[in-house]
Amino acid sequence: MGELEHKFEVEIKEREGRHKLSDEVKAEMKKSGMMDEKGKLKLKGVSPKMLKRMKQEFVECPVLKEDIQFIQCFVCPNFQSRVMGKVLCKGDKL
Ligand code: SF4
Repeated sequence: MGELEHKFEVEIKEREGRHKLSDEVKAEMKKSGMMDEKGKLKLKGVSPKMLKRMKQEFVECPVLKEDIQFIQCFVCPNFQSRVMGKVLCKGDKL
């Protein structure tokens, strides 16, 4: 795989405990079929173990200028890939 064009490399950080997705994000994910009506995530190719881990991760998003849960970042149109603990982000305006 060649080098993807991206503007930012955003470090993925971890924090303790469970973190809930906001209702806004949930609604968005339901609309795009990534979450079922019961609020269970359905991400292709992501194992339950990985999901659990992802729920504790966040990024300091350079576009939205706030902390964003990794799951939200993962489904963001700017998300390109995850490489060595970093998100490659297109950095387009949202
Ligand atoms: S992919 Fe989206 S949420 Fe993640 S860092 Fe980039 S703009 Fe922020």
